[in-house]
Amino acid sequence: MGNVPSALKHCLSYQHLLKEQLWIGEAGPPPPPPPPPAALRQPGQELLARGFPEFVKIVEVGPRDGLQNEKTIVPTEVKIELIDRLSKTGLPVIEVTSFVSSKWVPQMADHTEVMRGIEQYPGVRYPVLTPNLHGFYSAIAAGATEVSVFGAASESFSKININCSIEESMERFEDVVKSARSMGIPVRGYVSCALGCPYEGNISPAKVAEVSKRLYSMGCYEISLGDTIGVGTPGSMRRMLESVMMEIPVSAIAVHCHDTYGQALANILTAMQMGVHVVDSAVAGLGGCPYAKGATGNVATEDVIYMLDGLGINTGVNLYKVMETGNFICTSLNKKTNSKVAQASFSG
Ligand SMILES: [Zn+2]
Repeated sequence: MGNVPSALKHCLSYQHLLKEQLWIGEAGPPPPPPPPPAALRQPGQELLARGFPEFVKIVEVGPRDGLQNEKTIVPTEVKIELIDRLSKTGLPVIEVTSFVSSKWVPQMADHTEVMRGIEQYPGVRYPVLTPNLHGFYSAIAAGATEVSVFGAASESFSKININCSIEESMERFEDVVKSARSMGIPVRGYVSCALGCPYEGNISPAKVAEVSKRLYSMGCYEISLGDTIGVGTPGSMRRMLESVMMEIPVSAIAVHCHDTYGQALANILTAMQMGVHVVDSAVAGLGGCPYAKGATGNVATEDVIYMLDGLGINTGVNLYKVMETGNFICTSLNKKTNSKVAQASFSG
């Protein structure tokens, strides 16, 4: 469990917060009996009994998904320092960069330098995005030992974002996955627009399930379901996950939420209640989406860890160290953090 900065303890009475009863629950059943005195309970005990996972894996996507969508192009040495700092926080997975053409994504043009420049800590995984075989081989040459492919559940988004139909993208990914598997390299799959598309509006849960199944069947070990424009609600998250879970095991599902409509934490909580135990997030809530007008950044890693700490769910991540890293990158970018936890802790 992460440490809590002292400012936070004072302004929010963190200990009190930990003892708070869970506020969620289905409408209908009578309220539960009052809990025993806090001293008699294990932290999080009553929550785990309600189906939350004991451990949640946080996949930090700030250096790639976050910085790729920031307006400023961040100097290579700042990216490397960001990743090295994140490596010391206890995060188990840090997405490093994207091996796409610099014509498409100039923010990631230094992918090889970043991959070669970071210190790879034992026990931490460093996936990179590889849209095609060319990117895959460049990534491996630069020292990558895990890669990701990036698909969409929306035909229009796929055409505009990765310049091909969903079917064409799946054919390209099959080549990448095949080569990766022959080299023993794990591949993660993304499905963007899982809860809505900037061009098509609603996306059917069946379509998300179909694309997820395709990626899982070709050999992706984990499928990250992205609410790319942050329009989802706990209701649409539940319906989408119910559909996807009919096709792939819940242990292979990750959720990737943006906070455009302020629903990200609620959506993550819903997913965890359904058994999902992998959550993508970005330090300081970095990012956005250039193709999705008005979309704000990824849910902040600090805010996710604060919620999980409060639920008694283990992440192995030190909240305070993540907050310091958030402060570092926001100072470098000369921008305000999107993390509510960091705002509350560092202001005044
Ligand atoms: Zn994202």
